Amino acid sequence: MLKALQIFGSSSGLVAFRWKPHATSGFILVSTNSLSCSAPRKRTRRPYLVLSPFSTRKASSSRALRVHSTGSESKMDASSSPPPSVAVQSAGIVRKINFCQWCGGATKYEIPDGEEKMRAICTLCGKIAYQNPKMVVGCLIEHDNKVLLCRRNIQPSYGLWTLPAGYLEIGESAAEGAIRETWEEASAEVEVVSPFAQLDIPLIGQTYIIFLSRLKKPHFSPGPESSECRLFSLDEIPFDSLAFSSMLVTLNLYTEDVKAGRPKFHYGTINKRPGTSPSDIHAYTLDYHLQS
Ligand SMILES: [Zn+2]
Repeated sequence: MLKALQIFGSSSGLVAFRWKPHATSGFILVSTNSLSCSAPRKRTRRPYLVLSPFSTRKASSSRALRVHSTGSESKMDASSSPPPSVAVQSAGIVRKINFCQWCGGATKYEIPDGEEKMRAICTLCGKIAYQNPKMVVGCLIEHDNKVLLCRRNIQPSYGLWTLPAGYLEIGESAAEGAIRETWEEASAEVEVVSPFAQLDIPLIGQTYIIFLSRLKKPHFSPGPESSECRLFSLDEIPFDSLAFSSMLVTLNLYTEDVKAGRPKFHYGTINKRPGTSPSDIHAYTLDYHLQS
């Protein structure tokens, strides 16, 4: 809980000013780190690095143990020793694509005309494989002034606590995905009450959307990916045993909001602090924090 506050230390009592471009939106810009409100400057091409392959499968894969896993929010470190084979942008890690997903042809990496990033381009059919961030959706379930957490029964972060959350599937809305993940991980039927947080993690290409939710029935039990599900009062939340920095930020913001009177809506960017351990979920800053 102690270090956790570093992540969003600026969110409490330090609101500097209203975000002028949208002063009537009801949002307050809490921190401005990393982003500017000014007009975008012409972007420059970024160098490409090389890192080891990582799994894009859900965290149940044993390969997700690797620091480069994208199973939920993984603990990766772009500064770690880089085995070959994956193209990496300095601003985030992307998986190398060797073969075309449409025709199976070999790909080459080039910057297409009119673009500025390296892309995998099929040498046979010419199609470009664009890679974009994934969305992780989950529920922050309120029940009797407590919140429901699941203890992970899978890697990464085996044995640590998380909100029920997972990758959004094609064909479902964010709210539907959050409800489904909650059913899968906590066997709980919930209804979504309101959006609570959108947290971007550019380094690993993930965006979390967390919804405030309530139990339709007062029943829950661990699904296959969980070893335990429990309701925690705010003072009991195991801040030292949380699985991911996204959960740490979410639960810190929620705790602070409830103590202040009501949950707000938060947007922010989670950035890893340079030089910190990839396994330290506290070693992040919450930048460009907006709250309603
Ligand atoms: Zn092709």
